[in-house]
Parts: sequence; structure tokens; C-alpha cells
Amino acid sequence: MAPGVYIQIPFCRSKCTYCHFATGVFPRELISAYVESVSLEIRTHPARYAAAGLAIPVAAPDTIYLGGGTPSLLTPENLVPILNAVRESFPCATWREVSLEADPETITAEKSAVWRAAGIDRVSLGAQSFSDVELRAAGRLHRFGDIPRAVEILRAVGIASVNLDLILGLAGQTRETWHHSLDSLLALRPEHISIYMLDVDEESRLGSELLAGGTRYRAQQVPDEDSQSEWFDEACVALSASGYGHYEISNWSLPGHRAIHNSKYWTREPYFGFGSGAHSFNGQERWANLHDPADYVEAMRSSRPYIEQRQRVTPQMAFEEEVFLGLRLLDGINLSRIERAYGVDLRQRLPHLLEAGAVALEGDVLRLHPAHLSVSNEVFAELLL
Ligand code: SF4
Repeated sequence: MAPGVYIQIPFCRSKCTYCHFATGVFPRELISAYVESVSLEIRTHPARYAAAGLAIPVAAPDTIYLGGGTPSLLTPENLVPILNAVRESFPCATWREVSLEADPETITAEKSAVWRAAGIDRVSLGAQSFSDVELRAAGRLHRFGDIPRAVEILRAVGIASVNLDLILGLAGQTRETWHHSLDSLLALRPEHISIYMLDVDEESRLGSELLAGGTRYRAQQVPDEDSQSEWFDEACVALSASGYGHYEISNWSLPGHRAIHNSKYWTREPYFGFGSGAHSFNGQERWANLHDPADYVEAMRSSRPYIEQRQRVTPQMAFEEEVFLGLRLLDGINLSRIERAYGVDLRQRLPHLLEAGAVALEGDVLRLHPAHLSVSNEVFAELLL
């Protein structure tokens, strides 16, 4: 099992109303200090892990993912040293995938050419919607026209795999605008598509407004959950009819373009996380770095501890992860293997779910039923009770 390398770039040009990540707008001076700190963390990670008593995964990593935040905001002078630090710190002959998250309005031909030359072969664009009304309400800085322009530039420099993200549940979204976004996205024929349902929680401005029953950020215009579920199901039909394979609850790809790095999360492969708020997993423990970028930089400079959460994965936790992460994949999970590995009897929890048609069992393989993907959390809760 080859690990992945994740690098967190927490900087954004503005804060989207629905965003609950530890990202934001930070002073420009912090960026170069942060790049230095991340590069240092990458280059010195063996000694740091040893000092903290963390085991290093045995196999060499084979994927790199620059996520955020908005990694595409970095200038080439800031981005390339980070990639060099990874390449010089890990013994990998061939990187199977090097991905970068980008916002459409930040794409330029010059930057994209440097990315390609630096080995980046996959770009994930936060399109989110093709309606300017929804993009404006969400606090996004790009507009509809920026998306095809960005895709064209990325293709022209030879980026082999382009992902477009859409969000279902944005303020102002209607069935009509949702289908307009889907049709516009399909017309661009990206190699990969992710559709995320709006996450409602107190950590985002829109989420806390929704929970409080308020109207700021057009919260009253967020479509209800039933509509979102219906539109999700309609998207599944449209994407399948256009030749996209649905392989994970929120992800579709053309043949040969599944996301290799992200797939490691669902199959519980190890990953190294570098940067503020980055999470890591070595097979036995999960840990996270300090979330605040300025604190993280300060800790790196002064050699203070920079890990703020650390948790050993117990057999019970590993079992639960196998079920709820594994079932996100439409290939399903192998029941016998999991039952043997964890000494559990999962089959006795199935009759009600099978009867309700929420899951399907074929031989040893248990899968979520395609008609229940949008309510998968309820299925997980029942299976893991
Ligand atoms: S660009 Fe992404 S990370 Fe930044 S605020 Fe918006 S949603 Fe959050």
C-alpha cells in the first residue's frame, strides 16, 4: 500500500459563505514564511516523526496532492520549492498522480505551463456552479465564463486530467439552474467530476445562518433536503448517460481517470500531511498539525511541537472506518474479510437494510444501493450501531 503526500495551502482571496475549512485570507507576508515552513517540515519529517515516536509508513509514496485553500494562488516561485522538497525527500521513481486544487479565476497560461513543467498532471477546479447568481451569493470570486476559459488553458498546456467540482444546495439554486450547471459542465467533458452536497454546520457563515433560521447569505433560498436528494439522483442519471463511471458517492470519472490520491482515503492507505491543519495517517495513528497558519509557522521556526491532535486507531475505530469509508466506494466492501479481520458479525445487522433496499449483497460484497446514495449517512448509522 503506497502512501500519498498531502500538502495544505490554506490561503484564499476571500472566504466563501459555505466554507468551514481552516482556511482564509491572510497577510501576504505570511505566504513566503509558510512556504519555507512547509518545505522544512517535508525535508525534516523523518527526524520529527522519530522524535514524536510516530512510525513512518514502509512503502514510498506515489501521489502528491496540493489542496487548500487555494494552491493555485501560489506563484511558481512559491510552489516549485514545495514540490522539489517532496521529490528530494521521498524515494519515488514514478509519481502516479500529482494534483493541484485551483479556483477558475486564478488560472493563467503562464502559471499553468509552470505547473505542467513541474510534473502536475491533474488539476481540480472549484467550479461549484455555472450560475453567476449562485456564485455571487456563495461569495465566490469567479463567474461562469471563467470556467471554460480555465479548462481551455489547462488542456492547452497538456494537463491530462481535469476535475470540476459542483455544489448541490447553494443559495438560489433551483432545478432549472442545477440542470444548467450540469449541462454546462458536461459540455466541457472534464475527465473527472465531484458533486458535493452543501454541508450545514456552525463553522461556516451560511451554515450557522441556516441553523439559526436567518436570512443572511440568502439562507432562505437554500433548496430543501428532499429537492437536493432528487437533483442528486437526476445528476447520477445524466452523468451515467454521458459515459461517466460513478465510483464513489461524490465522484465520477471517465475510464482511467479515477482520483488515485483521494482513493487512498477511502481504502485506508497511509498518507503524510504537511502544512497547517494537515492530517496524517500511518496505519496505526492519525494526527493533525496546528490549524492556524501563523501558529504553525511560529512552531516550525522555534522547533516547538506542531502536532495538535493525535489519536491511536483502536480495532473498533479501524472496523468502523473500513465500513463507512469502504461503503462510500460503489465497488462496496468484502464482508467476509472485514468480519474475519475484526471478529464481528456484520451480516446479522443486514436484514432490515436489505429489506428496505438500502444495501445490496452479492456473494461476499456489500454495496450501498444506488438509489440510497444521497442518504448514505443513515445507512452507515444503522450498520455501525
Ligand atoms: S476557496 Fe475553497 S477553501 Fe477557500 S474559502 Fe472558498 S471554499 Fe473555502
